[in-house]
Amino acid sequence: MKRVFALAAVLAVVFAGAALATEVYVGSCIYKFDDTFMTGVRNAMKAEMDAQGGTLEIVDSQSRQPLQNDQVDTYITKGANALIVNPVDRTASLPLMEKAKAEGIPIIFINREPDPEVMKAYDKVWYDGAKAEESGTQSGEIIADYFKANPGADKNKDGKIQYIMLRGEQGHQDAVLRTEYSVKALKAAGFGLVELGSDTANWDKVQATDKMKGFISAAGIENIEAVLANNDDMALGAIEALKAEGYNTGDPAKFIPVVGVDATAPALEAMKDGSLLGTVLNDADNQGRAAVRVAVAAAEGKPVTRETVGYEITDGKYVWVPYQKVTKENYQQFMK
Ligand code: BGC
Ligand code: CA
Repeated sequence: MKRVFALAAVLAVVFAGAALATEVYVGSCIYKFDDTFMTGVRNAMKAEMDAQGGTLEIVDSQSRQPLQNDQVDTYITKGANALIVNPVDRTASLPLMEKAKAEGIPIIFINREPDPEVMKAYDKVWYDGAKAEESGTQSGEIIADYFKANPGADKNKDGKIQYIMLRGEQGHQDAVLRTEYSVKALKAAGFGLVELGSDTANWDKVQATDKMKGFISAAGIENIEAVLANNDDMALGAIEALKAEGYNTGDPAKFIPVVGVDATAPALEAMKDGSLLGTVLNDADNQGRAAVRVAVAAAEGKPVTRETVGYEITDGKYVWVPYQKVTKENYQQFMK
């Protein structure tokens, strides 16, 4: 028995040593560290690079694109073998790609999708993220299913859903498409819709609480039948505002269904206590892991394929990590 373990240990060491043929140094910029979802991605990136045995440096771009541009320059000067960039402004990915291209360094964009022109202009640029449409559809379906199962949720009995939309950062593909596709899914399920309010809260919990308080005073809490938020932090911010009115604290007569996206730890806790109806898993673990694997394979000059990175590569350039509906029935399996 002992011998088997010893052999396994030797093999593990040999494999780990062979995993990285060259010393790989990857430089990464995250649009801002103070973002719940991106913190999950960051942690997954670190864990994967630890497993691979290379070096990963990650810096905070503090929501400032000029700062991020300088950070990329610094990585290039320091001899980075690959870059993983979460752009502050995704329309600024063109000059970042050009900096990498000029030096022949692979660049992997994450979470904020560059225009197809940027993706086509270099053979060593990749994008790793998730299809925003999918998350929009799934969050709309969660609300639709709730209204089908609970006809009383149509409080004014007009056959329509009076809803509030809390949107992410302006111009972010996830904000635009989640908004559009959640509404589409509700319409496809046969519901008439009345938008009582819609505004951006920039992915932020505190801003969402403020915006929601404004909507409650304008529309009257008794007239609001659902809240759709483009991410969990904003959904939880909206719930704070509802709680301040005595809603979503356990009284079934005072409940407004709220749905988010991400399946962050605090969102799963809110599902457990019943204040949040549902969310959609935005898979930070797989997005982080895929980013590092693509960066390492590309840095080592290997082809980036399913065989080398373990993820399907669409059009040679895209890793699409699937979303997943998180409801009362399955949320526990996402708790860590
Ligand atoms: C997430 C948000 C996050 C944003 C950052 C989105 O995919 O759902 O929670 O704030 O990315 O760019
Ligand atoms: Ca109604």
